Amino acid sequence: MCPDNHSTGDAAAPGDEHVTAIDVHAHAMPLRLLQWLEQRSLADLTRADAGIVVLDPSVSGVGKDTPLPLARSQYDPETRLQEMDSAGVTIHAVSMPPFLYC
Ligand SMILES: [Zn+2]
Repeated sequence: MCPDNHSTGDAAAPGDEHVTAIDVHAHAMPLRLLQWLEQRSLADLTRADAGIVVLDPSVSGVGKDTPLPLARSQYDPETRLQEMDSAGVTIHAVSMPPFLYC
């Protein structure tokens, strides 16, 4: 029995009754990175609470002032884990989205 693999980090053992679901394509945007960019005038986080970030085209590769989605689960681990539990996902293989490869 392992109702919460996230807090223990335990891998599923052979014979475990639960199913391990691995999402191999998940993204995250670390808030400290976004704040670092903002301090350099390369990100606008004023609409972060509304789920929007604007990145400088030199960072994002998209047009100036393009609103990009910033779900809370992108930077808040607790929200991410709750969403994973709701979806029945045990493990996320996380990378940054394409518009954050500086
Ligand atoms: Zn992707």
